Amino acid sequence: MLVVRINLALFALTHTIFLGLKSMFARVASLRQWLPQRWFYAGISILTVGAIMIGQPQMSQSADLFQLLLRGAQIVQLSNMSDAQEITLGEQTNQSLLSEVRISRNPALTNYVNQIGQRLARNSARPNLKYTFQVVEDDNINAFATMGGFVYVNTGLMKAADNEAQLAGVIGHEIGHIAGRHSLQHIKQAAISQGVSSLFGVDRDRIVQIGVQVALTLPNSRQDEYDADRRGLTTMIQSGYAPSAMPEFMKKLITSKSSPEFLSSHPAVPERVVNLQRMIPAAYRNRTGGLNASTYKQSLRSFF
Ligand SMILES: [Zn+2]
Repeated sequence: MLVVRINLALFALTHTIFLGLKSMFARVASLRQWLPQRWFYAGISILTVGAIMIGQPQMSQSADLFQLLLRGAQIVQLSNMSDAQEITLGEQTNQSLLSEVRISRNPALTNYVNQIGQRLARNSARPNLKYTFQVVEDDNINAFATMGGFVYVNTGLMKAADNEAQLAGVIGHEIGHIAGRHSLQHIKQAAISQGVSSLFGVDRDRIVQIGVQVALTLPNSRQDEYDADRRGLTTMIQSGYAPSAMPEFMKKLITSKSSPEFLSSHPAVPERVVNLQRMIPAAYRNRTGGLNASTYKQSLRSFF
């Protein structure tokens, strides 16, 4: 137990020192120019471990230098994940999620949501990611997302929306979480607090489990919700939808019994509604793209 504690303490210390050194070295632009990135970070890891070994002479005998080096390298992976790595992790998380939720096999319904999603994704801050939009057969009003471009929309949410623009607002918000790499940060924090440091090694399955928890149950931070709202609203405007539909749908759901991901209690929904209304530029306030209720209801009738 003591060894575990020492390891955890060392791990936390390594992380802190690593971040400090990283920001210090980040200022030394010339170093980065002639050192390949991998060697640059490897150098920092070695320096970090060195600093710990010098600072903790009594522990140095029991601490396994190789383990520490390995952990330093793994934190680098957590902090500098490429799009390809994020997509791989997202695909694995999606596979795990598929055993937790029931995905609709109705091609017309999936195609409808996918078309709205792809239109929004093209106008998001990460248009080059490959996005997958799936409909979950569940009457709860909910939508969620995981890293690497995976967005899920419940049938219950589609039925609760008055028009396509309201549905697009929620999908835009979820794309906003992906564009802001929120779940990656969330997973990283949860992994560190649970003592899991490897994204691509033996702890991979646990990371995927945390990814599923983050997508389905762990609430996003207040800051991430505001960020996803802001990104979602911009994406809606860029895609030709009426941005007013986003706060309108939230207002409508304040009284609903379910507490969907995009309406998690922190921050309070009325605050978010006011915030969104303030963010809509005057020129777009009266836009009507996607507000036609009868066209939307007609589409839904053909699916359900
Ligand atoms: Zn959200």
